Amino acid sequence: MEKFIASSAFEKATIKRLSAAVQVKTESYDDLGKIGEDKRWDVQYDFNKYLKKTFPRIFSQLRIEYVNTHGLFITWNGTEPELKPTLLMAHMDTVPVPPETIDQWTHPPWSGYYDGKFVWGRGSSDCKNQLLAVLESVDLLLENGFVPKRTVLMSFGFDEERGGPQGAGHLAPFIFERYGKDALAVIVDEGGGFADNWGASMCMPGVAEKGHIDVEIVIRMPGGHSSIPLPHTAIGVMSELIVLIEDNPYEPHLVDKNPYLGALYCGADHAPDFPDKLRKILEKSRGHETCNAANDELAQEAAKMSPFVRYLMQTSQAADIIGGGVKVNAMPERVSAFVNHRINIGSTSESVKTKVTSLAQQIAEKHNLTLHAFDDAKEERNSIFLKAGYNELEPAPLTPTNVDELTAYAVLSGTVRALYGEDVIVAPGLMTGNTDTRYYWDLTRHIFRFAPGWDGEQGGLANGVHTVDEHVSVKAHINGVKWFSLFIRNMDEATLD
Ligand SMILES: [Zn+2]
Repeated sequence: MEKFIASSAFEKATIKRLSAAVQVKTESYDDLGKIGEDKRWDVQYDFNKYLKKTFPRIFSQLRIEYVNTHGLFITWNGTEPELKPTLLMAHMDTVPVPPETIDQWTHPPWSGYYDGKFVWGRGSSDCKNQLLAVLESVDLLLENGFVPKRTVLMSFGFDEERGGPQGAGHLAPFIFERYGKDALAVIVDEGGGFADNWGASMCMPGVAEKGHIDVEIVIRMPGGHSSIPLPHTAIGVMSELIVLIEDNPYEPHLVDKNPYLGALYCGADHAPDFPDKLRKILEKSRGHETCNAANDELAQEAAKMSPFVRYLMQTSQAADIIGGGVKVNAMPERVSAFVNHRINIGSTSESVKTKVTSLAQQIAEKHNLTLHAFDDAKEERNSIFLKAGYNELEPAPLTPTNVDELTAYAVLSGTVRALYGEDVIVAPGLMTGNTDTRYYWDLTRHIFRFAPGWDGEQGGLANGVHTVDEHVSVKAHINGVKWFSLFIRNMDEATLD
């Protein structure tokens, strides 16, 4: 089987599969209506048709179930049902391609064009590649007569790019109903991968996710003719509040359980170009894992490396939407804005609410307005309202990353090093966004957001995900197939509780 995966026959076939998968449009829109009513969901029927045609062995030999019409759940029963199953995930939808950007693509977004190295198009890298890698590896194992002891489950959502309420939001409770709490050995979903850090190749599967809260601010003030204006209209007051929020950003703060601390330790121990100054500060905090002062000094220093690193240790805030005013000679009666927050590990949505409330209180007092902070009050004049968006989410529970005993993390990292060599440093990674796994927290503590395909060259991120020119390296994809086929077998051999 491994010889076949490395052959040009497999390469040719997998390029064809990837390319065809990209050609079936499965765009997810934020404003989708009900399944069955809104015709835009029906693209999922086409994609399912493609999967059935491409993987007849899986569709005829394994148990196939559809959850909430389009959610695809596949069961490959193991011979030892008392072992906890392995669950592999991916999503079938993609973000849309805005029509005005189509001419900016090097190769058209739905072409699945292969240029000799990459397959191009929307979904090629987020994450039809991962979906195919899972199915291809299972198909190859089936073809070669592998019989798992540990049940292998596959769960594929179809609206991850709009938060996953219809797909993962139904699949997870369905699986919970059948298997129960903490009943799975491991979950692998899309996520982090490989990057060059400090002169070393590092692999950083996501073992944690930041939380999320969108705070809506609404200011209601009297309208009236602009020729006899108030000194500050609701737009002016909103501006003042937004500026105050931006002038008071969160500080980097690295709690002991933040996986990035583990990544820093790994880097200090194994990466040749790890910065000396950072190493010195790190040594101070090492062994004093509860010494938060040392950790904060460490976070301040590490945050200087890049905004990307900073926001692994800091709650982010960004004012992203504003609206208000309808006419140029009338003062606005209602102005609203949204501030998006990604909540740091160790913090809570409550602490975000407290902070925004205290800032809004200052502005409310200054302008003699009443503040209604997260109290669901009905909107009325001369008031500032703070509301939490519908998708409020606390930081995810942490996946255990100890390797001194056999954990799922140990199996995952061992599989990475078996495939890519022992020079690759596997370290815990942190996701600043959320995947479909947000619905799966009760099913296992061992959740990994991980893209295992790597071509040894490019990092995981600079491949056009969510923008123009999305593409995937075929070599990386084939390595992804190898990785899943190894991981399934390694999980089968691993004695885990
Ligand atoms: Zn994705």
